[in-house]
Amino acid sequence: MSQNKVIIAGGGLVGSLAACYFAKRGWIVELYERSPDPRKSDSNERITRRSINLAISTRGLSAINRVDPDLKKKVMDIVLPMYGRMIHDLDGKLNGQSYSPHGEFINSIDRGLLNQILLTECEKYPTTTIFFEHSLESCNFENKTAVFKNIATGQDITASADLIIGADGAWSTARRYLQYSTRVNLEQTYIEHAYCELEMKPKNGEFAMVKDHLHIWPRKTFMLIALPNLDKSFTCTLFMPWSKFNSIKTEEDLFKFFEEYFPDSIPLFGKEGILEYFKNPKGPLFYVKCTPHHYKGNGVIVGDAAHCTVPFYAQGMNCGFEDIEILDTLLVEQAAPLVDPTDNEATKDVKTNRLTNSQIEAALIKYTACRPRDSASMIDLAMHNYVEMRHSVSMLSYKIRNWIEKKLHLVFPKTIIPLYSMVSFSKMSYTNAVAQWNKQTDWLRFAINSITRVSLITAAFFAIKYGGPRLGYRLPAISEITKLIKK
Ligand code: FAD
Repeated sequence: MSQNKVIIAGGGLVGSLAACYFAKRGWIVELYERSPDPRKSDSNERITRRSINLAISTRGLSAINRVDPDLKKKVMDIVLPMYGRMIHDLDGKLNGQSYSPHGEFINSIDRGLLNQILLTECEKYPTTTIFFEHSLESCNFENKTAVFKNIATGQDITASADLIIGADGAWSTARRYLQYSTRVNLEQTYIEHAYCELEMKPKNGEFAMVKDHLHIWPRKTFMLIALPNLDKSFTCTLFMPWSKFNSIKTEEDLFKFFEEYFPDSIPLFGKEGILEYFKNPKGPLFYVKCTPHHYKGNGVIVGDAAHCTVPFYAQGMNCGFEDIEILDTLLVEQAAPLVDPTDNEATKDVKTNRLTNSQIEAALIKYTACRPRDSASMIDLAMHNYVEMRHSVSMLSYKIRNWIEKKLHLVFPKTIIPLYSMVSFSKMSYTNAVAQWNKQTDWLRFAINSITRVSLITAAFFAIKYGGPRLGYRLPAISEITKLIKK
């Protein structure tokens, strides 16, 4: 029986992980990537189009581990753990806020290196072929064919397969062609903020700030953040409304802005580092929610192609990796129903038999039943977290709730779970995490209201009991109240 074949458009983070999974299951894999091979030194289009580094957490690591625990080890060798946020106040005071009461952490990782590891991993399988500098031009989901342009020769080639996967990022061509095949509901929203990256070089060969935290300078309507890199530098990202970016025109404007809002960062960046602001691109931020993600048993979109998000919960890639883990689970379920498809050990060496189109379709129907909803929840969480990162983290009410939630979590670990833990340190679906958090918010509100009411009544009682007689008032005795009631 011949093997199934998959075409994957886009060899970024999610596409290259998908290639690893399908190759591992014994499929013939053709991976088409528009850019040159990032592992070749003369390839100067480094994978820095989006961000230089990013944070990988439980969902992303779980998906990598399911391919191969050794692959996860390779990835963990190049991460830097971040145990919490380090808030930089305007006066330069630092305030550390841990991510978890159990010491859990997220990991800063170089996007380019991670992509290279995944590309090398999928190439280990003899059934994988990667076509660099091949751009997806069009895609026919009905007859399972895709046209790619060879950028070097300008020639078009047509490829066909049992399944087409669109992993071609935020401006996905595959998503556009999916809309020609089926009725796709789509919401694309640009937010008023943009981002610009700056580099904070090492100081005297060492990290310029503590390395095991994600640094944030929250300034209400905008913020600066910094993630550590293996070379002891930090990649800093300024998130601001376009109007603010546009208002900084001269060096004088720029330095005035830094002196006013990020004074403690000036000696850390140095003049040169700050001036990078003018050289570096300003990127737009937007999100895309769409459904369905698939067409029959013929094609599916994954990663940013299906759910591009604003980056404030550091979940875009993590969610994209989770897409692939879930897709694999559903396909394995079709192929080998006797194996528990969610059990990593049991599925480790499972090569799926050739799947029929209706088996693939059954898996994709289940996929669309959960992923558009969950990725939309992830996007809502990211939008919410932007306000939290640039403003709430420095507010007393936020700190109190955070403190109460962490303490309650230690007493009732299954009932009260901090939102950040559900999103970053668990694999609970994003939708369930949001529902659980809303429930917790109601409980906390009820508890705080009740405590406030009881405290006010108690205070009023004692005030009247002890202060009242001096002012000519006294609390009526119980016998007097009974008499009044009897009357
Ligand atoms: P991409 O990484 O965009 O890859 C798509 C690939 O497809 C690219 O290689 C591209 O060249 C290729 N391609 C595009 N069009 C074609 C075509 N027509 N034909 C062939 N190939 C094509 N996520 C996190 O989880 N944690 C973070 O900390 C985090 N930080 C972020 C910070 C910023 C500033 C931004 C903008 C995003 C951040 N993200 C983060 C989100 C993360 O970058 C994306 O979710 C992730 O890159 C999605 O991976 P992808 O493979 O789907 O898309």
